[in-house]
Amino acid sequence: MRVAAIYARISSDPRGLALGVGRQIEDCKAWAHRHGTVVAEVYVDNDVSAYCGKPRPEYRRMCDDIKEGLRDGVIAWHPDRLHRSPKELEDFIVLIEATSAEVHTVTGGDYDLSTPHGRVTARILGAVARHESEDKSRRITRKAIELAQQGKRNGGGTRAYGYNAAHDKVVPEEAEIVKESAQRILAGDSLRSVCSDLNERAVPTVTGRSWSTTVLRNMLMSARLSGQREHKGEIISMGAWAAILTPVQTARLRSLLGNPDRRTNRSPRSYPLTGLVRCGLCGAKMVARPRDDGSRRYVCARGPGNVGCGKTYQLAEPLEHLIVEAVLYRIDSKDFVQAVAAHTTQEARAAQVEQELEDDRHQLDELAERYGRKEMTAREWTIAKAPIQDRIAAHERRLVTFTGTSVLNGYVGHADSLRRQWNTLTAARQRAIVSALLDSIVIGPGVRGRNTFDPSRVTPNWKV
Ligand SMILES: [Zn+2]
Repeated sequence: MRVAAIYARISSDPRGLALGVGRQIEDCKAWAHRHGTVVAEVYVDNDVSAYCGKPRPEYRRMCDDIKEGLRDGVIAWHPDRLHRSPKELEDFIVLIEATSAEVHTVTGGDYDLSTPHGRVTARILGAVARHESEDKSRRITRKAIELAQQGKRNGGGTRAYGYNAAHDKVVPEEAEIVKESAQRILAGDSLRSVCSDLNERAVPTVTGRSWSTTVLRNMLMSARLSGQREHKGEIISMGAWAAILTPVQTARLRSLLGNPDRRTNRSPRSYPLTGLVRCGLCGAKMVARPRDDGSRRYVCARGPGNVGCGKTYQLAEPLEHLIVEAVLYRIDSKDFVQAVAAHTTQEARAAQVEQELEDDRHQLDELAERYGRKEMTAREWTIAKAPIQDRIAAHERRLVTFTGTSVLNGYVGHADSLRRQWNTLTAARQRAIVSALLDSIVIGPGVRGRNTFDPSRVTPNWKV
């Protein structure tokens, strides 16, 4: 559905249960926005008469527009907004069949009148709707959405971390924790290590209990932190409260923490260089694979699911030791101070790109609205949005290349304290620190029969 009509109807409401027309339209617009559908026009009938025989001029006009191909679909809040009687439903089915227009209802899902099955469903729905014009469960759902839109928790409950109970003010010290955790996760740190760090520092949660990975994960994936409204995991619109994170940060966190690969970090990785070690012969990433005696190894693996040559092996212990020493040396070196300065610049640039991305998305929305109001033609709209879409794609590509160095905060020039802590850090945290500095570690071919560690086989590729 590309150019849709929204249909809303004010009906008689003796029990005061009907949904205001403004709410119907708001929900329909939100649906259109989420599905990239342009709203060409909103049709509203005032149908407050007690019986259902009254003509509906706007409904009639909308049907004519569909017939003429001006609209290729309809969005309504519920099927009962569209038809008031079986007769009206049958007429509507004829129209839909003739035009292949799509029908979507916000609370009833896709309403496929083009198939026999869909039509039967619609008839049954219509019959049910006549018996209970405003059923209870929908009202409850709607209430939940309203609460979500006001940024309130369903049924009260505890307040959201980072905000006061009324959800209209930021709690500064909690906002700092939110920002810090988000930055660390985005920089590659694990939920587990951020949690244990917060618990070690005795940072309280909202409930006063200690931090768990689930609590932290749910918190960071919440769109409310970037001032967005959310319902059932979907972002509905922008809220009125202050944001702690940017919408782009939320998007990155949700994709990162929603990624099933990431959920396997229940036990910390015991191979901190995973993903960084590459085979010098074929260039493949070497994978963690212990020897039969249990000693840890990085291996260039071949066979099903592997792309390597199968020729390069490296014991993990001495390699990790060497890399840690190299990293610690680097952190104390003059080069490194410059490197951090460069990374700080990079983070500032990332923030700028995030802002530009937001501006472009906003501009795209504005264009769609202007097109919907017929202030521009479809051709003008297509031409106008192309460069913006290109910019958005370019911004998104650039953002992926920015890697934060916030995991290194506090360690610059203090390699000694990092050295003392190193073995107490989780593998994920160690890996985050190493990968803030190193692009890859290439392992050259081994000499047959030689079993001692040969540092000359190891080539670290520094990021800066
Ligand atoms: Zn290889």
